[in-house]
Amino acid sequence: MKKIIIVSLLSALLTAIAPAGSTGPEVLSLVRVQVTSESQAADLFSRFDETHNHSDGEIELLLWPGDLAELDSLGYDYEVIVHDLVARDAETQAASTSTSIEMPGPDRTTYRRLADYNAEMQALAKENPGLVKLIEFPNLSLEGRSIFGVEIAADVKSKDGRPTFYLDGVHHAREWPAGEYVMIYIHYLVENYGKDEEITRLLNEGRLIATPIVNVDGFDYSRESALSAEENVAHQTEPTGYLNGFEGYWRKNRRSLTGVTVPLVQKNPDAYGVDPNRNYSYLWGDNQGGSSGSQFSATYRGTAPWSEPEVVNVRDLILSRTVTGVITNHTYQATVLRAGGGNAPDDDILEPLGKRMADEMGYENTGNVGYPTTGTTDDWTYSVTGTLGFTIEHGSLGFHPPYADSVQADYKGVMRAFDIMFDAVVDPRYHSVVKGTASPGATVTLKKSFRTPLSPGNPTGEEAVAEKISIKVPVAPDGSFELHVGPSTRPHVNKAESYTLVVKSGDKTKTFKVNVARGRVADLGRVTF
Ligand SMILES: [Zn+2]
Repeated sequence: MKKIIIVSLLSALLTAIAPAGSTGPEVLSLVRVQVTSESQAADLFSRFDETHNHSDGEIELLLWPGDLAELDSLGYDYEVIVHDLVARDAETQAASTSTSIEMPGPDRTTYRRLADYNAEMQALAKENPGLVKLIEFPNLSLEGRSIFGVEIAADVKSKDGRPTFYLDGVHHAREWPAGEYVMIYIHYLVENYGKDEEITRLLNEGRLIATPIVNVDGFDYSRESALSAEENVAHQTEPTGYLNGFEGYWRKNRRSLTGVTVPLVQKNPDAYGVDPNRNYSYLWGDNQGGSSGSQFSATYRGTAPWSEPEVVNVRDLILSRTVTGVITNHTYQATVLRAGGGNAPDDDILEPLGKRMADEMGYENTGNVGYPTTGTTDDWTYSVTGTLGFTIEHGSLGFHPPYADSVQADYKGVMRAFDIMFDAVVDPRYHSVVKGTASPGATVTLKKSFRTPLSPGNPTGEEAVAEKISIKVPVAPDGSFELHVGPSTRPHVNKAESYTLVVKSGDKTKTFKVNVARGRVADLGRVTF
């Protein structure tokens, strides 16, 4: 009974705020479109907002007001899966049980808001100073917000070359479970350190760097507008501030491209914003539908690679730390995707590792999302550093289904999958080690400059962009140094490449060329001046 009232109230609200004279239903709809070629798929991706949840010969699209008429005009066969997504959400939310269960961190029954994430990370760093260190990224978001993450490791403040697992979530604003799993894993590691033998080992040998919410502006907009819509329904109040809950389905960041705010019921909000997961440099700017050059597209890549501050933060971290494994979290397809999409030179490592993680979560180990993508996180990190890279598309019920049906139901398998990755991150068979001894107080910097290829014909007119790895650590008090890094030759490059290692003691420096393959150790022995 309660369910019916909520749905009908919401429908009434939506009807009340639909602009007069508008054409077509002012709802968000999910449709599945039949395609027979890659070019048809690319055409749809360039025009519409895709959900990630595709299968063979079928593309699932989220249609914004006005999109249905455009889809009709193109002549594709399609099936409407959900006519009114916001009403469907209200219905499933009302039907879902939201009782508290025991979880790492606070026992929540609803998705965190941005302030919850920030407060929890700040409190963990304050309460566990030897284990958790707060990171505030150098670049603020476009709307001026600080972007936070944490490092977790035994003796976390020591500067060393330990193998590091980089874990993040919510490049895409509406994919709320992606941030939840990262935050819950942070609590899980803190709560189990010193108690669970395996977690204790991982945090002694390695380090986690975690950013639950990369796209803070987009997430805040999505999360708060959905809450506002729920409040409006619950209290039968007119929508204020946020319009109608459509904004809960925002994907991109909040870059203003036009400087004009248009009521969302009248215009596809994807006219604004850049897709952060299409803004990384590797093969940026393709013409095959892997990203879009249209500001109106949900996969708009921006005017150039690295135009968005959120991804610059991730880039600068990856290029300056000893990261040997990356997972970036998304929703939804219930799949584990990997760098290179199944064609990476290291797929003999990536494929079985992906399978083990997929099995723990009950997902498919598909490798790629089933259509071309360029400028993405895991492809870039793998191509420039050789680090093992995965994208996990969590769940199958939607971008942010009721908490009980997604996060509460699935988090245990996700924790086990992250543990499998962390174990691979600290395993020297899967990366390279550069070590030696020098006088305590000296510093060691591992460097490499290279050019990362963009897609041919991309709009910048450049073939590649200059990028640089530079990782600096002090020599330990016992005189040793040991850096866990990717191989010196990048995976997609045919000729051998070297690192440059600079050891600096006082005003003296010594420089070495280092060639090291995956699974091998380059031992420089004693460095004397
Ligand atoms: Zn996503």
